[in-house]
Amino acid sequence: MTLARPGRKPRLLLVGIGHANLQILERMVAEPLPDVDLVAVSLSDKHHYSGMVPGYIRGGYREDQIAFDLPNSVAAAGGKLIQSPAVGIDLEARTVALESGQDIEYDLVSFNLGSRAAGQDSPGIGENAVRVKPMSQAVSLKRALVNLRDTTSPEAQRVAVVGAGAAGFEIACGIAEFLDVAGRAREVELIESADRILSGYTDRLRRKAEKILAQKGIHLHLGSRVAAVSPQEVELENGSRIPSNLTVWLTGATADPMFQGSGLDLDDRGFVLVDDSLRSVSDSRVFAVGDCATMVNYPDTPKAGVYSVRQGPVLWRSLLAAINGTPPPRYKPQSGFLSILNTCDGRSLLQYKGMISHGRWAWWLKDRIDRGFMAKYQRLEPPPSI
Ligand SMILES: Cc1cc2nc3c(=O)[nH]c(=O)nc-3n(C[C@H](O)[C@H](O)[C@H](O)COP(=O)(O)OP(=O)(O)OC[C@H]3O[C@@H](n4cnc5c(N)ncnc54)[C@H](O)[C@@H]3O)c2cc1C
Repeated sequence: MTLARPGRKPRLLLVGIGHANLQILERMVAEPLPDVDLVAVSLSDKHHYSGMVPGYIRGGYREDQIAFDLPNSVAAAGGKLIQSPAVGIDLEARTVALESGQDIEYDLVSFNLGSRAAGQDSPGIGENAVRVKPMSQAVSLKRALVNLRDTTSPEAQRVAVVGAGAAGFEIACGIAEFLDVAGRAREVELIESADRILSGYTDRLRRKAEKILAQKGIHLHLGSRVAAVSPQEVELENGSRIPSNLTVWLTGATADPMFQGSGLDLDDRGFVLVDDSLRSVSDSRVFAVGDCATMVNYPDTPKAGVYSVRQGPVLWRSLLAAINGTPPPRYKPQSGFLSILNTCDGRSLLQYKGMISHGRWAWWLKDRIDRGFMAKYQRLEPPPSI
């Protein structure tokens, strides 16, 4: 395969600067590739770090502490940043279409644009529920929460979080603590269609998590599928209604619709199928990482930021192999991971192999890991010229 168009440098296009593409920027600062034309596309000028979003909602971090500075980092890597959502890909023309109307050419493209919350087709969800994914919407949730705290009567401080996976659990804790700190009477409801919370976690951790929710006065509704959302309530399929002045939609992961009909091989949720080198199984110029990809040999790998972080160095080696025409690396995702859920009260709930612990030291560890990641990638600077 001839990599570049005649008379041009090969163009590497990064679409969505999630945890893995961010590491490509860092590598290109450390090891510049002068013969590669780098272009990055992002929804906005910031990428928000999901691991710190619950702490941000609680009020423990400011936005500037959880957001990566994309314009400076892309410039430091020698690239150009275009701010507009990507909406489609044309594999024949080798272009990615943007909402702004531009078509951006590529020779190699790496998608790292996360996932969306599933099941948003029911009536009223689009207009009345706040989303957190894409992660930049965490800022809208915080704004809505501050508005609820400051402008509504005490008896109207009712919040419903739909989806009791790890993110829904943490966000429900963050919202409850945020309103408690403000001294507000509040009702926080956590609604889950399955008959248990925290799918993928152990029964012991689930029992502990349910106790924590009960201690915080967060009401759990299991086996409750949402039929509709209005500005004042959530209606369940069984006909019952839960009052809510702020509804947060945080159900399981589904793919960005931009890949549908593109000709790329996708899994049944619309995620790009990739091989062990994170390359599309149907188009060798296309790479996909993090939530937006499914590894064809490891389809059950969880959609968690931890995996996107781990894929960063593999992606770098894969891209270098594609540029240099050398054999690509092979990556096997780890079978388990250290999970630390922020209960937003100065403590965290940790699960690692058989161990479970809820305490301050787990929070300290999580905060240290998260701040370490931020410090490394928040704002990349070009190396000093000697
Ligand atoms: C509240 C919350 C807390 C979480 N906490 C943890 C945790 O502690 N540990 C953990 O492992 N996982 C956690 N997760 C799961 C985690 O969100 C995802 O698995 C992780 O963020 C996926 O990383 P990513 O790199 O694939 O993409 P993301 O982090 O989602 O980044 C994607 C980037 O692409 C941009 N983008 C999106 N769409 C487009 C588009 N169409 N065009 C251009 N740019 C686009 C976005 O703005 C964003 O900057 C949490 C999730 C939530 C919601």
